[in-house]
Amino acid sequence: MSVHAASAEIASLDTQFADLDLAGRLSLAATLGHAVFTTSLGIEDQVITAAIGTHRLPITVSTLETGRLFKETVDLIAETEERYDIRIERFCPQQDDIDAYAEKYGLNGFYDSIEARHACCHVRKLIPLAKALAGAEVWVTGLRRGQSGNRATTPFVEFDAERGLIKVNPLADWDIDTIKAHVTTQAIPVNPLHGRGYPSIGCEPCTRAIKPGEPERAGRWWWENDEKRECGLHVPDAQTTENAAQPVSQAISTASAIR
Ligand code: SF4
Repeated sequence: MSVHAASAEIASLDTQFADLDLAGRLSLAATLGHAVFTTSLGIEDQVITAAIGTHRLPITVSTLETGRLFKETVDLIAETEERYDIRIERFCPQQDDIDAYAEKYGLNGFYDSIEARHACCHVRKLIPLAKALAGAEVWVTGLRRGQSGNRATTPFVEFDAERGLIKVNPLADWDIDTIKAHVTTQAIPVNPLHGRGYPSIGCEPCTRAIKPGEPERAGRWWWENDEKRECGLHVPDAQTTENAAQPVSQAISTASAIR
């Protein structure tokens, strides 16, 4: 398959997703190959986990246990497992990497420079993410267009060239009010921090509550001025690539063979 044909298939999938409900989108994603959903336990991720558990979909649910999460987030992992009778795979950083980071930057060195912050996210998130996605052909995320300007054009389906897999964002078009109404009607467990001004929750030392009118992700790495700040999970990071990226045509070919 040519790159042009593969790109056309991604575009076709994106169109198909637009016409499906959440369960339909996740079911279709699962037909594309081995699918892994990485959850931060945020409110939109809880919507996806609930759908996977309720419909018993063949999608692995994983989380990055960075070692700096809020207690409320850690508690929610177990609560969600019990509620939906599923296993959430934990991927943790290596102690050697944490020690090396602390030696070079200090344990909380991420406040001092963007370089130090990226280095911490690399050790605590990106390396564990690479392990969580090892062997995956499809990566399911809770990215939404309304989360930030940086995510305003998030498609339903895209090709992650860095990791060589198909990335599926089944809630791309859901707004926060729709998410909140859904968790209420479905009685989906959510992080109590959402009710205390934390719409987006990451590691405890790097997340603050937002003020009225601020964007959803304004509380993440609030001391940095870069409006497009991210942890690197959803933007290319050359350091992160542990798996050689395969061409888009190969990824689509693999997915087509499995479908
Ligand atoms: S969010 Fe903060 S504590 Fe968590 S990995 Fe990134 S820099 Fe480290």
